[in-house]
Amino acid sequence: MPRSLAEQLIDAGRRFDARGWVSGTSGNFSAVSNRDPLRLAITRSGTHKGELTPEDILEYGDGRVLAGDGSASAETALHLEIVGARGAGSVLHTHSIWSTLLSHRYAELGGLAIRGYEMLKGLAGVTTHDHREWLPILENDQDMARLSGEVGRTLAEHPACHGFLLRRHGLYTWGTTVADARRHVEILEFLLESVARSKESASWRS
Ligand SMILES: [Zn+2]
Repeated sequence: MPRSLAEQLIDAGRRFDARGWVSGTSGNFSAVSNRDPLRLAITRSGTHKGELTPEDILEYGDGRVLAGDGSASAETALHLEIVGARGAGSVLHTHSIWSTLLSHRYAELGGLAIRGYEMLKGLAGVTTHDHREWLPILENDQDMARLSGEVGRTLAEHPACHGFLLRRHGLYTWGTTVADARRHVEILEFLLESVARSKESASWRS
């Protein structure tokens, strides 16, 4: 795989760790290193994403690890589903406190609408703060085959969404490149924190 993809994923991990979005061994990252046949550079399971080394980035394809030691992230099936559905070049997944809290609070509504924030313009194709971003929320599930089926259905149902939340779990987003996907994580995490904190401060006033 091109070394630069691994370096970009390692860099994303350091940045996200500095923000507290990938504590413990949470989160996982991937980038498409070859489209046909599909090959992914993906983080090894059980690694701390703030301390990744090139050895922690595996090459995955044809349903197995093709290069590197260890097993690919348990959530590899979700990455593959997103790459297939969206033609993404990179998929990044974080476990922030704000995404965890909001994914539970809005779960019954099936998603969370975010509108009126200038930072929405950091999402691909969005040109105005008046954009309404619908962030679907899926029930968490340890059965990855079942969950990736749900992810596929959700992405088909919401063709404009830039990411989704897994309930009490975290955020998935993607982009054409690792840099695009990283920007989407930063934008969506900013928006989630803003939404959550604005609700908190509203309750302080009452
Ligand atoms: Zn996760």
